[in-house]
Amino acid sequence: KKKAKIAAKTANVDVKNATVLGAGIMGGGIAYQSASRGVPAIMKDINPEALEQGMDEAIKLFGKGLKYGKISTEKMAKGIASIKPTLSYDEIKHTDIVVEAVVENPKVKESVLKEVESLMPEDAIICSNTSTISIDRLAKSLQRPEKFCGMHFFNPVHKMPLVEIIRGEKTSDETIASVVAYASKMGKSPVVVNDCPGFFVNRVLFPYFGGFTKLVRDGADFQQVDKVMSKKFGWPMGPAYLLDVVGMDTGRHAAEVMAEGFPDRMSKDEKDAIDVMFENDRYGQKTGSGFYVYG
Ligand code: NAD
Repeated sequence: KKKAKIAAKTANVDVKNATVLGAGIMGGGIAYQSASRGVPAIMKDINPEALEQGMDEAIKLFGKGLKYGKISTEKMAKGIASIKPTLSYDEIKHTDIVVEAVVENPKVKESVLKEVESLMPEDAIICSNTSTISIDRLAKSLQRPEKFCGMHFFNPVHKMPLVEIIRGEKTSDETIASVVAYASKMGKSPVVVNDCPGFFVNRVLFPYFGGFTKLVRDGADFQQVDKVMSKKFGWPMGPAYLLDVVGMDTGRHAAEVMAEGFPDRMSKDEKDAIDVMFENDRYGQKTGSGFYVYG
């Protein structure tokens, strides 16, 4: 019923210019994806090195497109020129949407959202790429919560089709419709979900990780589990490898958020393999070792 209601409403913002806050793994990827689909993006960070890395990554991705014949030299040059790295909010007055992708810290996000809202056009939309913070909580720092929602991309942004569009209590249908349209323009597959711990994907993923860590506790060989889930069951990778990609720090934090949100279903009675990896600094690919050793 809700879906039909949203579909019946039209988007009230046609996104032609975007601003991404944060030029890290996600912000850089979001700016690239937007620019590669014809929506210029301002990429704002507080750290010049992060901006440099974000641009390098975008140039690399455009270069791959050129190498595999997906884009022309002109399209590559145009795409790169349409990402504007900056340390200031100077050009925010012309933006249709702000996608916040700064560090996963509620206090930092609240202050960034508040500041940007006071500088951007009143009718522009503001989204957060948070993985674990409640959209309703973040909305409390804003004057126009009806123009705010979650826009949760997955890593790596250019490869993962899904984007969760998270509706807060006060988000308007027009905002949701506009963000759905922008995600589609970016070549992504949006799903609209309500605000709750884990949104949609982590509510599926974390019980799966929980099942996996219990199997390991019962004596299963994690490499065998991965082999069966990937080679035989047909998923792109098994749970141990996926946890190495996600990172034990991120995974552990998300597991805590899920346990807090759903204590009856997601609480643990003892440490699991993710905790043990984390305590031994084996965060996964980012530290060179997790379940597997890299490099
Ligand atoms: P990251 O650490 O790679 O990047 C964060 C960037 O934010 C850094 O470059 C930092 O300098 C910048 N920053 C900090 N304060 C800022 C401010 N006030 N203004 C502008 N920039 C600021 O982090 P990430 O992995 O890209 O994660 C960003 C967000 O995306 C988080 O909310 C995270 O939960 C979410 N997310 C991450 C993943 C993932 O797999 N990494 C997946 C989905 C969502």
